[in-house]
Amino acid sequence: MQEVETRYREIKSALPESVCLIAVSKTYPTEHVRPAYEAGCRDFGENRVQEMMLKAPEMPEDVRWHLIGPLQRNKVKYIASFVHLIHSVDSNELLAEISKQALKHGRVIPVLIQLHVAQEATKSGMSPSDFRQWLAEFQPAAFPGVKVVGLMTLASFTEDETLIRSEFSLMQSLLKEMQASSVFPEGQIEVLSMGMSGDYRLAIKYGATHVRVGSSIFGSRK
Ligand SMILES: *Cc1c(COP(=O)(O)O)cnc(C)c1O
Repeated sequence: MQEVETRYREIKSALPESVCLIAVSKTYPTEHVRPAYEAGCRDFGENRVQEMMLKAPEMPEDVRWHLIGPLQRNKVKYIASFVHLIHSVDSNELLAEISKQALKHGRVIPVLIQLHVAQEATKSGMSPSDFRQWLAEFQPAAFPGVKVVGLMTLASFTEDETLIRSEFSLMQSLLKEMQASSVFPEGQIEVLSMGMSGDYRLAIKYGATHVRVGSSIFGSRK
């Protein structure tokens, strides 16, 4: 597992200080993941509720758990007590459930709105036009248990760098629209979660504050 530590350190040291490197530990058992913690990583990403629930008790308590995959409303209750940031919110129905479960634990859970800007139909998230509509109508007071802090996306899975750049650039301008809107208090919208193993360097050029890197740290998944 020496490689995991080394790879984490290499990637981390090449990033600007201000960028949060989330180690995406999905599919890897805890013993494979722990060397990243030993190397200083505290932010870990999982795309399934079940896996996060099983792994969290096996890892040190100061790990910040990021849910980065699709979230069903009926599963929010399992992670509401400890999740650090939910990246994959795409409806007010889901926001309402997160708010309700957060309040049961006396918490306010930070969340990101996931946008769909990629070519592939399989990826989830709001379209840019749905997002603008949502932003125009959003009433934060209706969701006291959540704090919307920014946006998340997955770019197209392609070799076409021009396309990826255009998607990241669109995200950067949508974040600016969100920051400029009067819906949120000044300074609240500060997270742009985009970039994976293949494209995180590019994402940073377009303002990513959080990158989600799995295989470049842990090796390719089966
Ligand atoms: C798996 C996953 C990642 C990390 O992907 P890698 O290519 O292994 O770096 C990032 N974001 C999401 C939403 C994922 O599901």
